[in-house]
Amino acid sequence: MNVTRKPVHSPSALYLEPLSLVGMDRWLDNCFGQARDQISPHKLPRIFFRADDVAIPDTNILRLMRLFQTYRIPLALAVIPAWMTPDRWTAFQEMDRNSPDLWMWHTHGWRHVNHEPDGKKQEFGPSRMTDMLTSDLENGLKRLARILSDRLTRVFTPPWNRCDDRTMSHLKRLGYVAISRYRNSLPTVPPGIVDIPVNVDLHTRREPIPLDGWHALGLELLQGLVSGQCGVMIHHTRMDDAAFVFLDRLLSRVNKSDWLRPVHLYPPIQFSE
Ligand SMILES: [Zn+2]
Repeated sequence: MNVTRKPVHSPSALYLEPLSLVGMDRWLDNCFGQARDQISPHKLPRIFFRADDVAIPDTNILRLMRLFQTYRIPLALAVIPAWMTPDRWTAFQEMDRNSPDLWMWHTHGWRHVNHEPDGKKQEFGPSRMTDMLTSDLENGLKRLARILSDRLTRVFTPPWNRCDDRTMSHLKRLGYVAISRYRNSLPTVPPGIVDIPVNVDLHTRREPIPLDGWHALGLELLQGLVSGQCGVMIHHTRMDDAAFVFLDRLLSRVNKSDWLRPVHLYPPIQFSE
């Protein structure tokens, strides 16, 4: 098994033409102001953050974790089991021990490999033989449980945010308590599994024109906040300096907004120091 792979991705177009700091603050004023005007004061929205494709303790993931540490905002880390090794976990452990209350480590598939010959990418999709699919599911959980021990939470984030109904039907048997995909994903979750979708995509956006990307991202964030539960998806492998600056401003805004409740992805209770 090759555990040294490292994906190389370019940032989404919006970060290639980033907003100025003043423009960014205006953008956030506009988005957060509209959200605050639309929410009920009796039901303050929750916000959580999920970082995908975690396993290699490289500069970007450590920079990302330090940013969340600075603002004391919790982060769910979706770990690719086949890429995680005891040595890599040791490298994460210093950060983990410094702020254990901030991190929620959970599984992100098995090898993050696409098995679908056509259509959307999936590791746990309809083209897999059932026994191969379930053994990958079990292998992912067992490997991370062995390496991360009691720091692992039994939440499943499928690669590319999708999996089939056979995968769903095995989650509870394996001891999973929740799944996190993109909003409005199918199939629906079976009884006993909590559905915790994300609804904001910071780094894998496809709009080719930067201004369109900023506009669409603003709408997602606004809709997520107004819906009462805003889940923000992060891909550190695609983050450049501009993406880090924007996330810094976003976390600072979340930190200062007394009408917003930063929570863990799971359990979704308010985070308090
Ligand atoms: Zn992924």
